[in-house]
Amino acid sequence: MIKYNLKCENNHEFESWFSNSNEFDKLNKKKLLECIYCASKKINKSIMAPMVSGRQLKQEDGFGFSDKKLLNEKKELLKIREYIEKNFEFVGDKLSQKVREVYYDKRTKKSIYGTATPEERDELAEEGIDLLSVPWVDKDN
Ligand SMILES: [Zn+2]
Repeated sequence: MIKYNLKCENNHEFESWFSNSNEFDKLNKKKLLECIYCASKKINKSIMAPMVSGRQLKQEDGFGFSDKKLLNEKKELLKIREYIEKNFEFVGDKLSQKVREVYYDKRTKKSIYGTATPEERDELAEEGIDLLSVPWVDKDN
């Protein structure tokens, strides 16, 4: 099971569980997801997106990010989560702002993570800042 933070077009945020990362896309495509507050069917994933500016998550760290199958393994996801929590600073929904601070202040080599909306992500990508998304899983389920 994977928990996603979801956001509707009116910026309502809520959480929902999916059996795997494909289920969200499937349900969303069929318009089977709706906002629990306003019943809007325009739902986006608001994912945890670790910033990899300072410290890159590398193969050597034991994370095969290129391997999509690995990302679907909960055990692996938990390892990734633990690694990120240990080595990255959580900045919550200030991610896009903080990422810019780190990116434009070259002296700062901070590794941060937090949430970003798809819009914020697109904006950052246009500025040449790539975010890395990882499915975020709960430890206790
Ligand atoms: Zn809503």
